[in-house]
Amino acid sequence: MIVNPLRSLILAAAGNEAVRRAVASAPVSRDVVRRFVAGETVASAVEVTGDLVEDGLRVTLDYLGEDTTDRARAERTVQAYLALLDRLHDVGLAADAEVSVKLSAVGQALDERLALDNASRVCAAAEQCGTTVTLDMEDHTTTDSTLRVLAELRRAWPDTGAVLQAYLRRTLDDCVALAGTRVRLCKGAYAEPASVAFVDPHEVDLNYVRCANVLLGGGGYPMFATHDPRLVEIVGERSRWYGRSVEDFEFQMLYGVRPTEQRRLAAEGHVVRVYVPFGEQWYGYLMRRLAERPANVAFFLRSLVSR
Ligand code: FAD
Repeated sequence: MIVNPLRSLILAAAGNEAVRRAVASAPVSRDVVRRFVAGETVASAVEVTGDLVEDGLRVTLDYLGEDTTDRARAERTVQAYLALLDRLHDVGLAADAEVSVKLSAVGQALDERLALDNASRVCAAAEQCGTTVTLDMEDHTTTDSTLRVLAELRRAWPDTGAVLQAYLRRTLDDCVALAGTRVRLCKGAYAEPASVAFVDPHEVDLNYVRCANVLLGGGGYPMFATHDPRLVEIVGERSRWYGRSVEDFEFQMLYGVRPTEQRRLAAEGHVVRVYVPFGEQWYGYLMRRLAERPANVAFFLRSLVSR
């Protein structure tokens, strides 16, 4: 959610080609990129996954790239996921690592059927490797389409994960409909109009808690994606109230964000899954992470002058 001018400025830079080229070509930005992105290749993503699993964490891997309007690029994305899944299987990491897929990266804007076919290929490969897929949720104009594709995928792969965003007004109803299944609940990362989304952060948090109650009270497997300390505490308390054991739900956080908290929760016995993005198209993702928190911008600027 864009709530201040700094966020707006950084998100504008995210779409600016000249700024992208300047950041990408500056060797000094490499460390900052590495904090949030696990490199550009399958090999580097698998290496980071191995390190996280060694620390007692689980992983969901995202091959960066969205809004594809070209079939060849959608195909390259599918191929990247297939290569990744093969490698995870070969090195024995598939039980601890699943993949997150954005339908827009596999052709949703071109044709919903193409996105379904491509996502099906990733789901089939994931099943063969002994793991699962979660469909990321993008802006509200794609929600119905993504839930339709999800329903189709679940006919063959019932464990396919859904993502619901607490900032959308519709989400409590979607939680009721999907409560018996694998659902990731997040606040939501896109700039949405007030007609469809809560704009007051407090209202988003309240809706997150309402949705968490529905998911914890249902028979499915909820995945709570948040770095918000208050929500982590409330989810922990509500899970005990609903009689859920620590294996019956999980926390999820982004790679590079609150890493100490990730390990603290895992040490307490919680399942903690880290969302690990990788790939050449890291720029837009990095800018969104910087926009989320002024401290990250300071970290970025410090790294530019510290070499
Ligand atoms: P916020 O209110 O943003 O932050 C709460 C607190 O967390 C902050 O005060 C700060 O202490 C800490 N924090 C938050 N962000 C950072 C940061 N970048 N660096 C350091 N500290 C930070 N969104 C979608 O729309 N669709 C998806 O499919 C999706 N999948 C996601 C998967 C995972 C595993 C995660 C963790 C997030 C995902 N998101 C997705 C993003 C999500 O919607 C939020 O935009 C993002 O997680 C920030 O919200 P928050 O709950 O952490 O709360």
